[in-house]
Amino acid sequence: MASTASILDGNSFKASDADGLDPRTRALAERREVLGSAYRLFYKHPVELVRGLGAHAWDAEGNEYLDLYNNVPSIGHAHPRVVEAVHRQMSTLNTHTRYLHEGVLNYADDLLSTMPDAIDQVMFVCTGSEANDLALRVGREYTGGTAWIATSEAYHGNTALVSAHSPSLRGPEQMDPTLRIIDPPDTYRLQSETAEGAGAWWLGQLGAAIAEIEASADGFAGLILDSSFSSDGIFLGQPGMIRAALELVHAHGGVVIADEVQPGFGRTGEAFWGFDRHDFVPDIVTTGKPMGNGIPIASMAAKREVLDAFAAKRPYFNTFGGNPVAIAAAQAVLDVIRDEELQARALTVGAALRESLRELAAVHPGIGDIRGSGQYTGVEIVADRATRAPDSGVALALLEQLRDRRVLTSVCGPNNSVLKLRPPLAFTAADIPRLVEALDGGLTALGV
Ligand code: PMP
Repeated sequence: MASTASILDGNSFKASDADGLDPRTRALAERREVLGSAYRLFYKHPVELVRGLGAHAWDAEGNEYLDLYNNVPSIGHAHPRVVEAVHRQMSTLNTHTRYLHEGVLNYADDLLSTMPDAIDQVMFVCTGSEANDLALRVGREYTGGTAWIATSEAYHGNTALVSAHSPSLRGPEQMDPTLRIIDPPDTYRLQSETAEGAGAWWLGQLGAAIAEIEASADGFAGLILDSSFSSDGIFLGQPGMIRAALELVHAHGGVVIADEVQPGFGRTGEAFWGFDRHDFVPDIVTTGKPMGNGIPIASMAAKREVLDAFAAKRPYFNTFGGNPVAIAAAQAVLDVIRDEELQARALTVGAALRESLRELAAVHPGIGDIRGSGQYTGVEIVADRATRAPDSGVALALLEQLRDRRVLTSVCGPNNSVLKLRPPLAFTAADIPRLVEALDGGLTALGV
């Protein structure tokens, strides 16, 4: 029989190899064998989740976890209104956007009503990657330029085109030769008090990148931006912080793609969309993850004149994008966000969460910064508060500590030193003490 180590290293696995292995080791080995090794699992001791409700989930052994990570089941795991809407529509009809369907039109109107008037058309796809792929193509067609600007750890998706505009993937993936990469406005290191300094600094970075493109043979297409700077380390900053920079893109004839896959659908509490927090109207808005509470649906909304340049030349069809079942899920999500006032709740619960974390920081010097807006919080783990040196070793160890205390979360930022607290919006103030206790225990165990 092959050794457990060789099986887990990805050597060829045969059913007979499983004899004598404990079920977890066998499941890990089988997973590697049938899914290949590109997939990554969270945690040294992976979690097998079998059930969820609200902001809580249960593993195969019946242990309950507090979910601080998953923004896809945005209105809560297994929300009954999504379950009912999907069940009803699936029991009735599921086709695609080549037939007329009232649900699609009603939802399109409803979704667009949450956006500025200038954004008045929307197309449906299945994933954030597809939405951004389409957005990049639409933006290039409209401007006639090819060169985009993106932030240094940005992730916008997994198609060939989008990967080439996702600097977090550089190394294994080739970046588009015309892409210009700029650092995010690091509100912690540039200026933590008012964040005005970070905004002004970022304006300078963006201006320099635009100037570089204009001095080259590449035409300027624009900026693709997650305004919450999620994978860059979560820098929501003060509302309005990046407005001047976004206006600069327009002044130079570029389009702004607001990638709302992370901050959208009320998460930041202060606005329904991340770009709205900065009081700015983008040209293209892409949405995804939380849109269908787990049913694959995403969208690309745009100003009519921007989309026209692309649409006039070519048809677009996406077999599953915007099908009636996915639309039913998305409609239920929008309805629940309004009916349960989840945006307002995100604002108050998120503020209370950060307040509790600040009390914890008073006794744990390993916490360097606590930042965020609504239900999107970054906790930066540092080796030294004076130098603000990031400590990814402790941050990664803390993830495991939290997992063992049954709290699910992850890390982000260039050094993996920022704890990413992004729970379903169903997370309530009653869940805060449990998180604080787990963090306190984990940080104490790590001696920081
Ligand atoms: N944009 C952002 C900001 C994202 O975080 C992600 C997914 N993590 C995507 C786009 C891609 O979305 P999907 O995985 O649905 O293709």
